[in-house]
Amino acid sequence: MSDYPASYKGRFAPSPTGPLHAGSLVAALASYLDSKARGGKWLVRIEDVDTPRCIKGMDIVIMQQLAAVGLFSDETPVYQSQRSPLYQAALDKLIAQNKVYGCSCSRKDVAAAIAKANPSAKPRHGELVYPGTCQHGMTQQLAPSAQPAWRFITNGEVKSHIGDFVLKRADGCFTYQLAVVVDDALQGITHVVRGADLLDNTPRQMALQQALGYPTLQYLHTPLVMSEDGEKLSKQNGAQALDTSNPLQTLNIAAQALGLGQQNCSVAQALSTWTSHWELKRTQFS
Ligand code: GLU
Repeated sequence: MSDYPASYKGRFAPSPTGPLHAGSLVAALASYLDSKARGGKWLVRIEDVDTPRCIKGMDIVIMQQLAAVGLFSDETPVYQSQRSPLYQAALDKLIAQNKVYGCSCSRKDVAAAIAKANPSAKPRHGELVYPGTCQHGMTQQLAPSAQPAWRFITNGEVKSHIGDFVLKRADGCFTYQLAVVVDDALQGITHVVRGADLLDNTPRQMALQQALGYPTLQYLHTPLVMSEDGEKLSKQNGAQALDTSNPLQTLNIAAQALGLGQQNCSVAQALSTWTSHWELKRTQFS
């Protein structure tokens, strides 16, 4: 990929649902190096859109972890929990263009509709492919005080693998898929570098970008860090918080996962050396 715009902007977008672990630092470091290697900006965005899952104060913990290893956002971090009007405006645009529809289905209804249409269907990554039950009108009357969920009308592979996905839940919460696409566009992000665990989301986000008339971003996915028992490190399976007592050692471990050589110098010097080696390394990722 040689077509970096002069205004390269990358981002690291942690959800404050737990402290960063060794795997999160690999993604953070890769996005940081990709930005810096191109003289771009690197932003941190706090993805606290799913408020019930977030832990109070975890944003600060995450920022302290990043600071400890020398990674500082070039702009004041934005918080998704403060941006609902922007997400609503994007949803309203999609409603006006008939690119979404209201849905009254509960998870149970979705499971029942799938079982009826295809008895051997299995959830994919725990997600059910919505069979489009409400696309031409909600199948159930909502209580007067209730809100529908809003689903995005998908096509092609996204339709068959994921189905019409939710942009706003019935409880009024905007989903990660909508928030991330709106924020990436409004913040002027040009390149997304993130862990391969998020690969599955990329086609969905590109489809949504197109529907909203936003530019399509460039994506790069970095390898996942596995625990000793072969599982991917994640907050959900209790991965250990990043140990920042020896920042250089912590960075060296993340750099190794990206195929970069070990450094024995200051943190700033190490980051600058890896930045100059990044261009070759990045071609190994997709
Ligand atoms: N907030 C997401 C997470 O922590 C990452 C989003 C992204 O990089 O697109 O998993």
